[in-house]
Amino acid sequence: MIPEIEKASLQEIKTFQEEKLRGLFEYLNTNSPYYRRLFRKHKISADAIRNLEDLRRIPTTSKEDLQKFNDDFLCVPKNKIVDFVTTSGTLGEPVTVGLTDADLDRLAYNEAISFACAGVTDEDILQLTTTIDRRFMAGLAYFLGARKLGAGIIRVGAGIPELQWDTILQFRPSYLIVVPSFLLKLIEYAEHHDIDVNASGIKGAICIGESLRDQDFSLNVLAHRIKSAWNLELYSTYASTEMSTAFTECSEQQGGHQHPELIITEILDDEQNPVPAGYEGELVVTTLGIEAMPLLRFKTGDMVVAHTSPCGCGRNTLRLGPVVGRKKQMIKYKGTTLYPPAMHNALNDFPEVESFVIEIYHNSIGTDEIRIKIATKIASEELLQTIKDHFRSKLRVTPNIEFVPKEEVQKLRISKLGRKPVSVIDKRG
Ligand SMILES: [Zn+2]
Repeated sequence: MIPEIEKASLQEIKTFQEEKLRGLFEYLNTNSPYYRRLFRKHKISADAIRNLEDLRRIPTTSKEDLQKFNDDFLCVPKNKIVDFVTTSGTLGEPVTVGLTDADLDRLAYNEAISFACAGVTDEDILQLTTTIDRRFMAGLAYFLGARKLGAGIIRVGAGIPELQWDTILQFRPSYLIVVPSFLLKLIEYAEHHDIDVNASGIKGAICIGESLRDQDFSLNVLAHRIKSAWNLELYSTYASTEMSTAFTECSEQQGGHQHPELIITEILDDEQNPVPAGYEGELVVTTLGIEAMPLLRFKTGDMVVAHTSPCGCGRNTLRLGPVVGRKKQMIKYKGTTLYPPAMHNALNDFPEVESFVIEIYHNSIGTDEIRIKIATKIASEELLQTIKDHFRSKLRVTPNIEFVPKEEVQKLRISKLGRKPVSVIDKRG
């Protein structure tokens, strides 16, 4: 199930997207109060937007815009909305994203071709180990995508290793949809209960929320730890509620593929200019085919590298490397630029580290400081020194690191929205 356009040449894909873009401009100009206002203010007419390069004439849309003018982004009357989801905003209040019946079909299509990208077929059964309710989009997308693809899906939900294993052994699914670090929990449970993970019939995992690879696509520490115990294929998928679109790895596992009929991507620098090929920049997306809340040049806040060489799987579409970090969480520390995920990776090298939080703050002269609070059963001076040395060799800098009681870390990790635990606390600005 590879859509024709994904095997087309880059030039054909560009022409295809330009036609879609012109249609989107007309649609927004007619139906979106927010974008109509933006076009008028900046005197942008339909003839000014003919090709992808013309996108640069249109100001980008930030998360703050989406939050402040949330209702103005809606292109349909409220009674056309079938599914209401929310995503955490930057100003505290969550942002609402509505989906119409057609948007749910689009979401199903998006996830079906994304699953297909990772090798899932109608012969497979997927086990969903993430939440489907709580106003999330992802779980529903997986369900609809599996249905569209003709695959089976078991909605177990988040947590509860015992129920996950009970389900695996009873229904024999072939794929898990999972946050990768949860795979470690499943491995641990299996070890304690005499379950052979490699005889479980699970051949692959569609992994969300955490990176599996370094920028050269080699497996990172977390993925190595998983693979050393469990011989299964790991596929990264990257998506967000605002995009309503996923970038999922294929059999080559060289980055998540873009679906040209669903999304236009730009990788921009701080001055909103495209970065040179192969450089990291902020992912800016324009959604295609969305009825209720299409977005034009939406700044995702995620720093990524795009890869444009043809892929071994036969697709020519752009691929996104692992997310380097959140743009807002970029840290300038002792002359080095770094992001929290690199610190997560470094800490994952230590099984002794039970849990941690990374605090980022401004010191008295206004520059960035990092304090990592670690909970461990063996809080020795020796371990502290080993961790510091490891940071120095991996990241070239050593943040402040201290051991604190487990309860303190747990308290800090509780998020306000009660969703994912917090591992980074940014106190700057
Ligand atoms: Zn590929």
